[in-house]
Amino acid sequence: MTEGLLTAAYIIASILFILALGGLSNPETARRGNIYGIIGMAIAIAATIWGSQVTSYGILAMAMIAGALIGGYVANRVEMTGMPQLVAMLHSFVGLAAVLVGYASYMDPNSHLQGVEKTIHQVEIYLGVLIGAITFTGSIIAFGKLQGVIGSKPLLLPARHWLNLGLLLTSIWMGFVFVGAEELAGGISPLLIMTAIALLFGIHMVMAIGGADMPVVVSMLNSYSGWAAAATGFMLANDLLIVTGALVGSSGAILSYIMCRAMNRKFLAVIAGGFGTSSGTVASSSAGEQGEVITTTAEETAELLKQAKSVVIVPGYGMAVAQAQHIVAEITSKLRSKGTQVRFGIHPVAGRLPGHMNVLLAEAKVPYDIVLEMDEINSSFPATDAVLVIGANDIVNPDAQDNPDSPIAGMPVLEVWKAETVVVMKRSMATGYAGVENPLFFKENTRMLFGDAKASVGAILANI
Ligand code: NDP
Repeated sequence: MTEGLLTAAYIIASILFILALGGLSNPETARRGNIYGIIGMAIAIAATIWGSQVTSYGILAMAMIAGALIGGYVANRVEMTGMPQLVAMLHSFVGLAAVLVGYASYMDPNSHLQGVEKTIHQVEIYLGVLIGAITFTGSIIAFGKLQGVIGSKPLLLPARHWLNLGLLLTSIWMGFVFVGAEELAGGISPLLIMTAIALLFGIHMVMAIGGADMPVVVSMLNSYSGWAAAATGFMLANDLLIVTGALVGSSGAILSYIMCRAMNRKFLAVIAGGFGTSSGTVASSSAGEQGEVITTTAEETAELLKQAKSVVIVPGYGMAVAQAQHIVAEITSKLRSKGTQVRFGIHPVAGRLPGHMNVLLAEAKVPYDIVLEMDEINSSFPATDAVLVIGANDIVNPDAQDNPDSPIAGMPVLEVWKAETVVVMKRSMATGYAGVENPLFFKENTRMLFGDAKASVGAILANI
């Protein structure tokens, strides 16, 4: 393939990736966005395979077949609720790839760069390995936290900011030693020391972040993986990888900003960690201390819905776990056919992925125009007859507004308690992801409908 053709293919692929991102920003165009992305990636892979840099098709074919088989198997098996962990794992691979490419490119015996070009290449390698290593271990810890194998409580080492500063300064110093080294042997030790520091920093950074801040961490690591890919692109002098990496890096950064704004948090404060440390509201089954809960049944809830003129449904992570969205969609269309106004209230961090609830509701064919963002629905609660909270917890916690000592104080929430009656469906009195107690369950106008969300909504549907 000629250089001109390769460049043309890369430009077309880049444009398709931009169209893909644009499409994915809205559920109505997401499918089209995905198709653009698939075509763009197919062009990118084909152009790279036929490019001049490939020297062994055998190795390439083996790697691609192994990758495609593993990817296909994992994608087929993963449940919707396991997606966040899978995404975190995939980010870690991008980080690891950047580290490996960095080392390979530094030790490449065919590289004959001299002078300024050599220095620039060394800086690219150093930054690529640095970002890659942080992304690698950070994403593995994020995977552990999302999977529940590592607790969501932040780990706060004494003098952790000083520790981080020390690690940063040592990395900068090692960078100068690395770039100044004349021989390969002289540069490898500072590179190895920095890699070890960056791996440790990745672990420390994500360990220090509390459960409630995880949405920002997920999008931040998404952004880092993009920058790691862009750095790999610089190391390999591959323009498409640079563009794609920069697209992922910047869209991840924008998403982190949106998540921070949604949670009323400052990005730097999230990175510095420690959110979720306050013990203001102890997370435990201290139900007795807060009063009694009033339970209800599926029959009573169905009756309530039949009487209501306006209903708001607030889905959360539990709806995803129970896979209750299809029955919820059926209840919605049944109530709407009776003339009841039904709307959905979506919190920006509901579930475990940005847009998690929107994806589930779109899958169940709930009309988009009745799915509203938190800011759009919050003022409607006082005039709402019934709210169904389906497997949501942190996003409807009034303590975020009322208790300045709460670990989630200041986070905007869906003000469901302002409606006439709230029915909360969950299996027990257990806390949500942030691990904090929820006073909503003890309010006078709240009714608890215990049980698996799918079974509960199924019984409600049968009674409407
Ligand atoms: P929560 O994690 O706060 O609460 C979910 C609730 O669902 C639990 O209390 C659980 O209670 C209940 N539940 C679980 N399984 C079922 C089931 N089968 N049937 C019925 N109920 C069930 O979820 P929210 O959506 O309210 O809030 C999201 C949380 O996740 C926030 O803290 C957010 O910061 C965090 N997060 C969000 C990310 C994102 O990008 N959106 C990423 C990472 C974290 P019980 O066990 O009693 O049933």
